[in-house]
Amino acid sequence: MVDETMLAVVTHGPKDYRVEAVPVPKPGPGELLIEVGAVGICASDMKCFLGGPLFWGGDGKPGYVEGPVVAGHEYAGRVVALGDGAAERHGVALGDRVVAEQIVPCGECRYCRRDQYWMCQRHHIFGFKRQTNGGMAKYNLYPANARVHQVPEGLSDGQAAYVEPIACAWHAVDRGEIAEGDTVVVCGVGNIGLGMLQIAKLSKPGQLIALDTKPYRLDLAREYGADVAINVLEEDSVQKVRDLTEGYGCDVYIEASGNPAGVRQGLEMIRKLGTFVEFSVFNEPTTVDWTIIGDSKELNIHGSHLGPFCYPKTIAALADGSIDVDRLLADSYPLTDFDRAMRASLSGDVLKNLVVPV
Ligand SMILES: [Zn+2]
Ligand SMILES: [Zn+2]
Repeated sequence: MVDETMLAVVTHGPKDYRVEAVPVPKPGPGELLIEVGAVGICASDMKCFLGGPLFWGGDGKPGYVEGPVVAGHEYAGRVVALGDGAAERHGVALGDRVVAEQIVPCGECRYCRRDQYWMCQRHHIFGFKRQTNGGMAKYNLYPANARVHQVPEGLSDGQAAYVEPIACAWHAVDRGEIAEGDTVVVCGVGNIGLGMLQIAKLSKPGQLIALDTKPYRLDLAREYGADVAINVLEEDSVQKVRDLTEGYGCDVYIEASGNPAGVRQGLEMIRKLGTFVEFSVFNEPTTVDWTIIGDSKELNIHGSHLGPFCYPKTIAALADGSIDVDRLLADSYPLTDFDRAMRASLSGDVLKNLVVPV
């Protein structure tokens, strides 16, 4: 028997996240009610908490959180109730462990019709829009159009909370179109960047290089397979990458730092005809000399958004251990301690904090 109300972290606005009682949703036709395991705090949650824009809306303007909405988008859960037809629609049964992709596509816009669902025009994503409550609550509703995947029992709640961010990392690496033997640079080795390193490694790069400003993250980068880890505050990273590539520069540069300097330095250290992947989200616009992209280097500039088509392989890789996230997990906080969890995440001294529903 599912309760009538539950405690949730509700986003009302910047720095105004409240733990409050909200009704437990009832699954309608095609919908699933899941009991949430644990929820990761993401860089985008921190950005949203501080009041920044998160993505560009369909109208071409920066998109801000549309509250009130239950926060959280990195979580898996267990099916505890099914609406009419939901079992057939999603291929799940009561008690199954499942994860939904972050976006709930409309199924009707030009992108959805062309199998480009991750760019869906209405762009409903869990945890940021009031139509799509996230996982920081005991229960969460997966709408009929959610893209639901099974999660093996062997994964911990913390590992399962990593399915979404690792799927995003995987898509970004795919966008880099790495060839065997390439020199690949990942700029910014937080949670996503450390996932990217492990995923890039699967493509057998010649050299894998990590850039960051925090020594503990660079140490982890080495543990996760980086051949070279450069502290950009202490070394001339552009010169160093050129030295490591006979003066040419890297083949693939993946920007995951969210710092405009990461873009400028990437354009400098990438070789001609290289592929630059832009993954991160910035607090401010970046100014660069576009001549580098065209006349000087004829670069491929590939954007990357969410983790389309990457959930099944991510779940399999977490389950068989080919991608490890255990060393990234920091502390678990009960949902009622959300403030403390967010503050600890904002410090930048830890990688992934989890919020556990009560
Ligand atoms: Zn995230
Ligand atoms: Zn759509």
